[in-house]
Amino acid sequence: MRKLDLRSGKPVWQAYRSPAIAHSTLTRSLTTDVLIVGTGITGAMTAELLSEDGHEVILVDRRGAALGSTPATTALVQHEIDVPLSKLQKAIGAEKAFRAWRRSKLAVANLRGQIESLEIACRMTDRQTLYLAGNVLSGNKLRDEADVRASAGLPAQYLTASELAKRFGIDRDGAILSTGNFVVDPVKLTKGLLLQAQRRGAQLFAPEEASAIKFHKSSIEITMRSGHRIEAGHVILATGYELMDVVHTDRHDIISTWAIATKRQPKDRLWPGEAMIWEASDPYLYVRTTHDGRVICGGEDEDFQDEQTRDKLLAKKTQRIVDKLSKLLPGIDPMPEFAWAGSFGTTPTGLPLIGPVHRRPRLFSLMGYGGNGITYARIAAEVVRNKLAGREDSDADLYALSNRVTSQTSFH
Ligand SMILES: Cc1cc2nc3c(=O)[nH]c(=O)nc-3n(C[C@H](O)[C@H](O)[C@H](O)COP(=O)(O)OP(=O)(O)OC[C@H]3O[C@@H](n4cnc5c(N)ncnc54)[C@H](O)[C@@H]3O)c2cc1C
Repeated sequence: MRKLDLRSGKPVWQAYRSPAIAHSTLTRSLTTDVLIVGTGITGAMTAELLSEDGHEVILVDRRGAALGSTPATTALVQHEIDVPLSKLQKAIGAEKAFRAWRRSKLAVANLRGQIESLEIACRMTDRQTLYLAGNVLSGNKLRDEADVRASAGLPAQYLTASELAKRFGIDRDGAILSTGNFVVDPVKLTKGLLLQAQRRGAQLFAPEEASAIKFHKSSIEITMRSGHRIEAGHVILATGYELMDVVHTDRHDIISTWAIATKRQPKDRLWPGEAMIWEASDPYLYVRTTHDGRVICGGEDEDFQDEQTRDKLLAKKTQRIVDKLSKLLPGIDPMPEFAWAGSFGTTPTGLPLIGPVHRRPRLFSLMGYGGNGITYARIAAEVVRNKLAGREDSDADLYALSNRVTSQTSFH
């Protein structure tokens, strides 16, 4: 095995060009209709939809645009969520489970429409998805999963081991093949959405860290570490997995994860249709290609949040991902040119926590997306938009924060 030659732990997306986003630090205190804290995919998506509805929007971020988990994502945009439909229906009932999966399907379609109508150049490419048999579902259980999905009106074709080998050259005990998903460059997408919001007047202040919160009768006041304050009619916390000190819930965990991108592969080394691949396993491996023929592969998730420990494991986890990838796709050169680590929030049901904080109707928290950050960011933005427009969102109950979620007045 050749020695791994990694580029500084940076995600592959940071090697591609993306638009510059105008921003400055605050020079005075301000008031606004909506304040969004966080400028990852969630903040960007929410700013785009709310500015479209005519809201005056201010965004703040303690780092800058698309510098949290969002540039670490491997950006498979899927309606399939982490918990299989056959398992989710046992956990929360068939009616809710079907609604959750269908809403994800709708969100992927809505996001495709949003990207197309705004002409965001984010290399969106349609891909089939292969969900391979693994230690969570295999044999008849995987076949049952395909049947349940089909009965919910979702695209799901069961492939036997020999069909899988014949069509994709992959050696596994069966798979589910689905359609309707796509891949993107997540940094270009996030910045494209922010640019659109800015064209409609949204302002972005960074680096600015929200550090304290005060509730008034008809507004919320956020104080930044810089000392400036922003008073807003509504505040949207889109801070990714870093939210834990202001909103407490026992339904949210933080996962550490690792990913690699290989050098560009000749087209004839890649598998048919460059389908996205993931596994019915815990932890699962996931694979996609980039527009220029790199293979991106992630996985090896672990249930802890300490960033130093996570980053120290980079070489070891990279080697494991390389080993698994070369076993799965022996035709490609699995040596990584990029390898990086990241974190995300997750919940036991695979459903995110999206909605107003208990007894704080003007404060929204959007978190716990698991491996579906981009799909759920779209759902979160839709739920917030509907709520602010006074429209009922018939799926909001699926994601509502429980009564046990409480808020406090500081972020740390
Ligand atoms: C390796 C990896 C692979 C993944 N693969 C996929 C995938 O294939 N598909 C998919 O859909 N999802 C995937 N995810 C999940 C996805 O990346 C995340 O769910 C998503 O990026 C979260 O976006 P966000 O905007 O909510 O949070 P973030 O991108 O983390 O943005 C939050 C922002 O809030 C800012 N912030 C935090 N606290 C404060 C504060 N107090 N004041 C001001 N600003 C603050 C941060 O600086 C940050 O910029 C993956 C994640 C990782 C790590």
